[in-house]
Amino acid sequence: MVFIEKKYILTLNREKCIGTGVCKATAAKRWKMKEDEKITLVDLSAKKTETTETLEFDESELQEYLDAAEACPVNAIKIEEKESGKELI
Ligand code: SF4
Repeated sequence: MVFIEKKYILTLNREKCIGTGVCKATAAKRWKMKEDEKITLVDLSAKKTETTETLEFDESELQEYLDAAEACPVNAIKIEEKESGKELI
């Protein structure tokens, strides 16, 4: 079994989200629009509260999540390195 280290943490601030769907357009399989017209993460390992969703993920998913974070007009998506805490966006 190959263990792939989850080196990154994504934080979605749902209070900031204005439901443009731009992040979903970057990678439709990773995002879903909810009834409240705010986005949610599809990955079942995401931890979710009413206002925030967090997800640990690996290198193979980095570019798609970076694209989404860069495209978000209200900076509702943050990505950081897990070990160093360095913010990538
Ligand atoms: S791009 Fe930003 S504002 Fe638009 S749905 Fe995604 S998180 Fe919400």
